[in-house]
Amino acid sequence: MAPTVPPPPPPTLVIAGASGDLTRRLLFPAIHRLVADGLLPIDTRIVGYAIDELTTGQFLDRLRHGVEEHGGGLDQRAWAALSANAAYVRGDLTPDAVEALAPHTTGPSVFYLALPPTLFGPAAAALADAGLAAERDGNWRRLVVEKPFGTSLDTANALQAQLLAGWREEQVFRIDHFLGKETVQNLLVFRLANRFVEAIWNNASIAQVQITAAESLGLEGRWRYYDQAGALRDMLQNHLMQLFAVTAMEPPSVWEGETLRQHKVDVLRATRGPTADNAGIWAVRGRYTAGTVQRPGEPEPVAVPGYREEPDIPPDTGTETYAALRLEVDNWRWQGVPFHLRSGKRLGGDLTEIALQLRPAPRLHFERTASIDPGADNDVGEDGSQWVVLRLRPDETIEVHAVAKRAGLGMALERITLTATDHEAAAADYSAYEQLLVDLVAGDRGLFVRGDEALEAWRICQPALDAWAEGEPTPYTAGSEGPEPPLGFFEPGLAPWRPVAPPPSADAARVR
Ligand code: NDP
Repeated sequence: MAPTVPPPPPPTLVIAGASGDLTRRLLFPAIHRLVADGLLPIDTRIVGYAIDELTTGQFLDRLRHGVEEHGGGLDQRAWAALSANAAYVRGDLTPDAVEALAPHTTGPSVFYLALPPTLFGPAAAALADAGLAAERDGNWRRLVVEKPFGTSLDTANALQAQLLAGWREEQVFRIDHFLGKETVQNLLVFRLANRFVEAIWNNASIAQVQITAAESLGLEGRWRYYDQAGALRDMLQNHLMQLFAVTAMEPPSVWEGETLRQHKVDVLRATRGPTADNAGIWAVRGRYTAGTVQRPGEPEPVAVPGYREEPDIPPDTGTETYAALRLEVDNWRWQGVPFHLRSGKRLGGDLTEIALQLRPAPRLHFERTASIDPGADNDVGEDGSQWVVLRLRPDETIEVHAVAKRAGLGMALERITLTATDHEAAAADYSAYEQLLVDLVAGDRGLFVRGDEALEAWRICQPALDAWAEGEPTPYTAGSEGPEPPLGFFEPGLAPWRPVAPPPSADAARVR
């Protein structure tokens, strides 16, 4: 008879910053759902750690409210198991205090730093000094660092050094929740599992790439954080650089976390961003002024104040609410293909997408057949209208723009859009945090950011911040497309920014 293998010990998830918004709104509802769905072990242990004087019962009450409010209701079996195994430990972030976590973390353990970013380094150091980073008897220890990873190249370097003083790189899981999104993984599969896609994914077929994260939302109460950060630090340096790296990287030979990360680092290393000399053209910043925005699901556009008039924002703030960068990649695949990245608040739509503009087909001989259908507009595909689009928001959709013959006797052409919307993605509805928590416990690092990757992204973005130390962002009206890019941002012949307004519905997808 084969010897029976004992089940692995249950993981312990220590959440430092357990009284915070992230824990209540996102983390705990995600853990609860994963346990309910059998994707995390039923005997997973939660240990809350914070300064607040709470009993375990009071801590559990907060978590239960979080699940009821943000997690779609309580699963009785999962809740009974989680609450039976949960504990709350009170303390600050000194080694003496965090040592109280030792009796709770004798098995495999995650230390999730759901703390203000200035505390990531000190908390990591305190845990290591208390001996909690040491892996013994096969029990792994993992450290989760939330965003943002530094506020500049220098501070990111300092944070990296602080983390690695007490932890090995393989133990550190840096969160970028964009990587947990279904479409980002779908992008990898779409690219790498389809021969026709990989065949056009290069400078012979692609003229430019536009990566957009536009939102109609304003500050939504996050002013304290946002006014320190601005659009470049909040979105571009992390989330959009990740989308860029996944789009531009070379195909990995195996589907394995470390290989994926190495390929992303490789392409980031080959990437040039703005410099002190060209930042006036390659780096664009803006700040919204009063206007009207149409929020999804609301019947009418609403009037909104300008950023400087928002409650609590200092009227002389220099913070940008829109940032755009031009990047170029010096490798065989992408030489000569500019990548344009932009993100902004209070724009005229809610859109996150990666759009690749196809080079035009050779001039069509059909246009010499005007006698068949005089007056037909056969000039298709030569005006920058052909794109491959991977949309993450508002729906998870892949679009390929193509040319087809218009039905009828004449030889008239029309543009069509081949659209695939992943309805399953919406139905499955696992959040990015759910995906990342499963990978974290499984030890799969592919969707987490490696330290050198974060630092490369900072290297590319920092010259924009340096250039922006002086002057003011360009004003743009709330509800608009954002500021006009300067001459030279887009090379002649390339399409300008695609509209951020909602895409046409499937019924309207056939356009002439
Ligand atoms: P909160 O301010 O709501 O919570 C922060 C937590 O840290 C609280 O539990 C707080 O305890 C604790 N804390 C603050 N100062 C100290 C200290 N000196 N010693 C020990 N504990 C301390 O922040 P969030 O939950 O919103 O964010 C946490 C992290 O997650 C941040 O890095 C943020 O950037 C990131 N994040 C948050 C998102 C969100 O939607 N909330 C989304 C994406 C990332 P106390 O309540 O007692 O002060």
